[in-house]
Parts: sequence; structure tokens; C-alpha cells
Amino acid sequence: MATRIDGTALAAKVKQTVRAEAEALARRPGLAVILVGDDPASRVYVTSKRRDCEECGFYSEEYALPEETTQGELLALVRELNGREDIDGILVQLPLPWGLDEKEVLLAIDPAKDVDCFHPFNVGKLTIGEPVFQPCTPGGVMEMLRKYGIDPAGKRCVVLGRSNIVGKPMAMLLLHADGTVVMCHSKTPDLKELAASADILVSAVGKTGLVTADMVKEGAVVIDVAMNRNDAGKLCGDVCFEEASEKASYITPVPGGVGPMTRAMLMKNTLTAAKLHQDVN
Ligand code: NAP
Repeated sequence: MATRIDGTALAAKVKQTVRAEAEALARRPGLAVILVGDDPASRVYVTSKRRDCEECGFYSEEYALPEETTQGELLALVRELNGREDIDGILVQLPLPWGLDEKEVLLAIDPAKDVDCFHPFNVGKLTIGEPVFQPCTPGGVMEMLRKYGIDPAGKRCVVLGRSNIVGKPMAMLLLHADGTVVMCHSKTPDLKELAASADILVSAVGKTGLVTADMVKEGAVVIDVAMNRNDAGKLCGDVCFEEASEKASYITPVPGGVGPMTRAMLMKNTLTAAKLHQDVN
């Protein structure tokens, strides 16, 4: 029976350390969160980020802009925040409403304040193994592996999903940790066989019930990144948790796994940005 990786407990520890380091700075770290439109899920995320900031002793600002905000207005706000000395991190909650150009907005964020690690400059730095910030979700997964003494070196790591925010940076971090990485996506014909060959299996697809027990190797580490809603509206991942637990050595639950770690990593990145801006190593 697999050991359950407790993301909630780990995240609390990460935030405790972040708070202690933040208190030692001359100025407290500041995070600005921009939300455009009134998507209820995005609103929940923004509220929890505000709570995380409070827990870590950060200064935070929230911009709830109306749905009809123009590209020009949004860019002007990002540029204003780029110039503010009390703001270390800028986060634009995605997805943006239809009609707004996400790429242009992300590109406008000062890379030194890009705490989501979405800016091409930071993606490039990550690719060459010199990251400024850890991409939050994959970074959270790596922190979990470290804390549970799971070393990807020499292991076969299979990542399901190739999005820019999860799959690709996840594969990159595992590669930098000396894993042998296989990436799968919707056009991968032999997904089941590849998944079943993994020592470390990371699923970031967004399809409830995708990963069944026959796709889990005996003793594998199973990381479920997905946050889906099942037919009853309950939060769940891609992995059939109970049956996969019978074969895995370690497994993350949903909720209580990768999600809280993602949020904790955002706080860690904001602290890193504050240190960068205050010239503290
Ligand atoms: P996304 O942009 O929709 O990407 C999904 C990926 O899965 C794509 O690469 C897609 O392939 C692939 N895919 C789709 N169907 C597949 C199949 N049947 N077999 C294999 N691969 C398949 O999603 P995302 O933003 O990466 O998010 C993925 C999941 O993680 C979602 O459930 C999301 O809610 C969750 N998430 C969680 C956190 C967290 O903090 N826990 C953070 C971010 C995202 P193609 O590229 O070929 O289309």
C-alpha cells in the first residue's frame, strides 16, 4: 500500500520557512494579483493567494478588473506595477477573458517580477538549467519528491501532458535532476505501456479516471497534478486513487497533494524576487 504524500503539511512547512526569511528582510515582499472578469474558479484562487500572503507576512494587492477591460488598460497596469518598488511579484490570473492577448500580457511582465515563471526569459533560463524562479506546480512536485527522499536520478520518469505551465517545465526539472524523461500527450499512441514503464509517473492531463492501476508499475511513485471535477462536482485528479495506491510506493491525493504545494511555491518565488530586488542572497 502506497505512502500518501501530504502536500498540505509540506506546504505549511514551506510557508513557515518563507515567513521566517521574509521577516529578516528590510522590506516585506509584495505580490500584486490581477484578475480580469468574474470567473468563479479564478476568484477562489485569488482569495487563497491573498490568504497565503497574509500567512507569509507579505504585502499584497488585488486588482479585480471588469470583463470589458481593454488590452491597453491591462498592459498599462502591468507596466505601472513593473515600476513599483514595493511590488516584487506580479501575477495575472489565467485564463483571461476572450479578446485579451495572454501572450502579450505575460511578455509585458518584468522577468524579475514573473513569479509564475511564464515569461520566455525565465522559461529559457529554466531550460539551460539556470532558473531564477521555479515554475510553481512542477517546482512544488520537485519539492515533494525531495522531502520524501525520492531522487529522480537514473529513474524513468513519464510525464502525461505537455502544456507550457505544467508538462513541459515538469519534464525539464526532472531532466535536470538526472531523470530519463518521456513526455506523452494526446497524440501518443502507446500511452498505457509508457505509463506502466515509469518509476515516477506524473499525470497533468485533466481527465478523471485516465490513470488506472494497469498503468502503474509495482512500486512506482505516482504524482497527480490534475484538478478535475467528477460527475458529483467533487474535486479529483487523473489517477484512480484507490486502485493505484495498491501498486504505487508513494502517491499524491487530490485534493491535498500538488495543489497546496503550487501555492506555497508562489510564495517562495515572491520571496526570491524580493531578495533579488533588495540585493540579498
Ligand atoms: P492543458 O493545457 O489542457 O494540457 C493538457 C495536456 O494533456 C495537453 O498536453 C494534452 O495533449 C494532454 N492530453 C489531453 N488528453 C490526453 C490523453 N487522453 N492522453 C494523454 N495526454 C492527453 O492542461 P494544464 O493546464 O497542463 O493542466 C492539466 C491538469 O492539471 C488540469 O487538470 C489542471 O486543472 C491541473 N492543474 C493543476 C495545478 C495544481 O496546482 N495542482 C496547476 C495547474 C494545472 P495535447 O498537447 O496533445 O493537446
